[in-house]
Amino acid sequence: MILIMKPSATREEITEIAGQMESLGLAVHEIKGENTFVMGLVGDTSVLSAEAIMRNECIDRVLKVQEPYKLAGRRFHSEDSVVEVMGHRLGGGGFAVMAGPCSVESEDQILSIAKDVKAAGAGFLRGGAFKPRSSPYAFQGLGLDGLELLKAARKETGLPIVSEIMDPQYLGVFAEDVDVIQIGARNMQNFSLLREVGQLGKPVLLKRGLSNTIDELLMAAEYVLAGDKSQVILCERGIRTFETATRNTLDLSAIPVLKQRSHLPVIVDPSHGTGYWNLVFPMALAAVAAGADGLIIEVHNRPDKALCDGQQSITPALFGKLMERIALVREAIQQ
Ligand code: PEP
Ligand code: MN
Repeated sequence: MILIMKPSATREEITEIAGQMESLGLAVHEIKGENTFVMGLVGDTSVLSAEAIMRNECIDRVLKVQEPYKLAGRRFHSEDSVVEVMGHRLGGGGFAVMAGPCSVESEDQILSIAKDVKAAGAGFLRGGAFKPRSSPYAFQGLGLDGLELLKAARKETGLPIVSEIMDPQYLGVFAEDVDVIQIGARNMQNFSLLREVGQLGKPVLLKRGLSNTIDELLMAAEYVLAGDKSQVILCERGIRTFETATRNTLDLSAIPVLKQRSHLPVIVDPSHGTGYWNLVFPMALAAVAAGADGLIIEVHNRPDKALCDGQQSITPALFGKLMERIALVREAIQQ
């Protein structure tokens, strides 16, 4: 962090600030120009608040030179992190597709979809048991019964399961039953939930909030990573913009930005990112071409009858075609 003093700053004021910084364990380097006096702070500046420092009358500007995410950032961890679940790898060259319905609805539905996506080459089965619906009157998911059905589908197909947690009261159940715990967009900044999930030592799929910046997503990951042996997969799922032609605006540039700033695997959700089944195919391919380490895609055997997100769900047949095309794009971009 760099502090630029006002030309009117007195020697006493500068010494006072330098003393405060040194008492926080920071090394202070003073650079004196003709008309400006600059103080470079070296050490762990993550505890400092630029806003609080600016309250000092003698300081003109505060410049942050270091990203505030130490655990998620690439600066201290240059190698790609790899998240491996039941033989499926994401990150560091590993690529996997998570597929399944928005919500688990019945045994027949989840088993049929699970078998189809497995046959097409999916690495994970996704399915919501606890659904964050905008309306309290909409289908809320089957809850614990839904998790049981996902477990049955895992047993049948061997696919690891991905499901969203909303309420910390189920942390124990998720730790036991679910292979990848999803934190949905609406809970990306539920900091107590993030901390608690980070204690479980399980892979966490962290979705970008509807109106959150890339840095806020990385700071949310920081909360999870502070826990014991936790692993995080980041997910771009579209953000709210002025555009109404799509449900959200899928921010494809988030993929290379996240991969430059962070070592964590990055996957993309073209289903929530666009909101329309016929946009999923092209945007999934675009995400792969842009360097995503995986995808999460809503697939339903009867999209017209789906209890949640049918308009953005693709059929197993289309999913099969998409997987073939994904393989071609991956081959094309590999050097
Ligand atoms: C979901 O994956 O079904 C979901 C609700 O996603 P998001 O949190 O991204 O809206
Ligand atoms: Mn959904």
